[in-house]
Amino acid sequence: MKHIAVIGAGTMGNGIAHVFAQAGFIVNLVDVNAGQLEKAIQQIAKNFDRQIAKGVVDETQKSNALQNITTFTDITTGVQNAELVVEAATENAELKLKIFKQLDEAAPKTAILASNTSSISITKIAAATQRPDLVIGMHFMNPVPVMKLVEIINGYATKQEVTDTIVALSKQLNKVPCVVNDYPGFIANKILMPMINEAIYSLYEGIAGVEEIDTIMKLGMAHPMGPLQLADFIGLDVCLSILNVLHNGFGNPKYAPCPLLVNMVMAGKLGVKSGEGFYEYIAGSKDLKVSNRFK
Ligand code: NAD
Repeated sequence: MKHIAVIGAGTMGNGIAHVFAQAGFIVNLVDVNAGQLEKAIQQIAKNFDRQIAKGVVDETQKSNALQNITTFTDITTGVQNAELVVEAATENAELKLKIFKQLDEAAPKTAILASNTSSISITKIAAATQRPDLVIGMHFMNPVPVMKLVEIINGYATKQEVTDTIVALSKQLNKVPCVVNDYPGFIANKILMPMINEAIYSLYEGIAGVEEIDTIMKLGMAHPMGPLQLADFIGLDVCLSILNVLHNGFGNPKYAPCPLLVNMVMAGKLGVKSGEGFYEYIAGSKDLKVSNRFK
């Protein structure tokens, strides 16, 4: 396999293009927004500079990788030679179904179509195509160049051969693949989100404050980041939408999102991206300050 197309050049898409290009693949990076493509290339160059500073790669590897990436705003041209397409567009089920229909029409008939979705059913996405056996989940973690895990999700119809190919490919990217089955939240979010929800419930019930909850989980459980800080980092809207997927998908009240999380999202307090969540984020400042609301 040599030709990869990545759909969506946001946070995840630029990281996915980065790791494939670094491993020597020819990458077509596609986004409907031309400005986003420009930003993505700048971000990839910046992330390579970070890796150079750490001694992980050198200047030649950076320029080779950047040469491997071509950008496209038209999906049909972008995927016409692809042997694998990795979709990392906005997390919206309707949009993904539409994109997979387009990919099914435009990509070579033998191409594998993968989605980086955090929570949408791979089986549902696959059913939008005429090749459900060639559709699979390839769930990279953020930031992609740094995080080792790739959660690989077998849809109901995914062929074993396809899973084997994606496992081997993930290893080629120097990642560690883990294969799971397609149920709500897969494994990563099925376990992570209830923990985050429980941390928010503990705050809501007044059992402890933001700093106490995060410090207990950091120092007591050796988590690099407390669950409330992690929720801010992921985005509280994203956490809420994944909890809703778990709640609706399993029909079990244990996944019901905490009312405090629902209120915060309705109030536009989304964490890092909105400047405030459980903590306050001031551009240019690295200090972690608990939001006034929770003091
Ligand atoms: P993002 O909002 O940063 O980027 C999404 C990009 O998709 C945007 O640049 C947008 O212009 C583009 N896009 C929208 N419609 C498109 C279309 N029709 N064709 C091509 N491009 C289109 O989102 P993100 O955080 O990079 O997330 C992308 C996917 O990765 C989502 O499915 C998300 O659930 C998943 N994911 C995100 C994270 C994370 O931490 N951000 C982690 C793992 C998985």
